[in-house]
Amino acid sequence: MSTVFSADEVVNLAKHQTAGNFHPFTCANRSDGNHRNVFGDTGALVPTVRGWICPFCDYIQGWAHGFMKGGEA
Ligand SMILES: [Zn+2]
Repeated sequence: MSTVFSADEVVNLAKHQTAGNFHPFTCANRSDGNHRNVFGDTGALVPTVRGWICPFCDYIQGWAHGFMKGGEA
């Protein structure tokens, strides 16, 4: 299994995603009617070591801004 983010990066990405200081990353398919409001926005993505995943479909995003992965916010 190849990982996209380290465990520590996942923690920091989750903090950024829910901190309210930034617009959360959201799914490209979030307008299809099957997506709900979670973690601050409709179809907001969840960070994992395999990349961002959508809770509502199979969308995966394999990148994040560098500043989001660091510990200092
Ligand atoms: Zn989705």
